[in-house]
Amino acid sequence: MIWYPYAQMKTMAPPIRVERADGVFLHTDKGILIDAVSSWWSTIHGYNHPVLNAAISDQLGKFAHVMLGGLTHDPVQQLTDKLSEWLPGDLDYCFYSDSGSVAVEVALKMALQYNVNRGCARHSVLALENAHHGNAMPVPTGERNTVLALKNAYHGDTFKAMEVGDDEDYHFAFPHKRGVVHIPTRIDALEKAFSEKGNTFYCMIVEPLLQGAGGMKMYDCSFLRRARELCDRYGVLLIFDEVATGFGRTGNRFAADLVLPDILVLGKALTGGYIGHAVTVARRKVFEAFYGDDPRIAFMHGPTFMGNALACRVALASVRLFEEENYMQKIRRIEKIEQSVLLGLRDERIKEVRVMGGCACIEVVNPSVLEGFREYAVSHGVFCRPFGNILYAMVPYVIQEEQLRTVLNVMRSWFTRG
Ligand SMILES: *Cc1c(COP(=O)(O)O)cnc(C)c1O
Repeated sequence: MIWYPYAQMKTMAPPIRVERADGVFLHTDKGILIDAVSSWWSTIHGYNHPVLNAAISDQLGKFAHVMLGGLTHDPVQQLTDKLSEWLPGDLDYCFYSDSGSVAVEVALKMALQYNVNRGCARHSVLALENAHHGNAMPVPTGERNTVLALKNAYHGDTFKAMEVGDDEDYHFAFPHKRGVVHIPTRIDALEKAFSEKGNTFYCMIVEPLLQGAGGMKMYDCSFLRRARELCDRYGVLLIFDEVATGFGRTGNRFAADLVLPDILVLGKALTGGYIGHAVTVARRKVFEAFYGDDPRIAFMHGPTFMGNALACRVALASVRLFEEENYMQKIRRIEKIEQSVLLGLRDERIKEVRVMGGCACIEVVNPSVLEGFREYAVSHGVFCRPFGNILYAMVPYVIQEEQLRTVLNVMRSWFTRG
């Protein structure tokens, strides 16, 4: 039996069966549907794209995968060269993994060990001994043992990623958060957190500008600028989890183009939605803290499928398409249309309508308002997957205007139909 994600298996609606997929269309047992979700925000070029298909087929004829332990290959080297050149500043050091959650784990572990290597945090072995003696020692000042994160954050489903997250809808079964402080995206809260605990943070992690799975919450870049200043002042590493926001979703290529983080995490759209892969990209100063003659300062991590050759080839092809076919312009066009169709929408059941780049969201007051929406959308040729009190579209960027209007009109008409 298939155990489906985020679902009570007893009561969940039967999933829609996909037979093939092409462009923005899913060909399903419920008819041909426009995918308004881009398969969890990843399929930015649409399905069955000839250029991406060709990249994979070509690589498949050579080899699908070899490990990066003691081996290397052109696809991973070329993708790394491309990302180093393409990403801002000295974000040049690429550590690959097979999913966004793992890439977030890598970023947090990297940040912690960065501080261990610099003598600013306790070694994990000492922590274990303390635990063994059952003696919860008070934290000496200056020891960095805490992550600063945001309210409503979502960073993935593995344990540490879940801990820095703050989303009851996903992680209600695991409410205990250790070593994490969550603050709202307000500058006063940010300043207060730093003035009270700044010397205990080993990193700050944020989904910049747009908090996705935590409810499509949008906030201003001034918060990130202030975070950058405070992180610099207190010697705290700033991590941008751009697994969802990267590759244009916020209307910026990357939020990292606006404010430079110390570590950047990319996933989801990295491979154009073809193969699960992610990358944790570090700046030079982070890399240098691990670089030296002492093996004990090396980074001891290595997912089996990191740098998978098929994933790297398709990611490289995806980045090139994004660049050569001016995707930023496509995204600006999507944003304009979304604003024109949705922003005027007023209804007592609606709390707020928000549009940012390639993300349009209607937050309703009560989740029950969205009951039956999925079936309604399907009957109008659209696949949509609201969660909680959030109805949203994150469409593939190749969508045509008419198709986009179909999606948005389904969202709008849910409220305006008689
Ligand atoms: C989806 C997501 C993740 C987790 O990525 P997976 O590939 O599902 O493990 C992490 N961070 C953010 C911001 C995400 O949206």
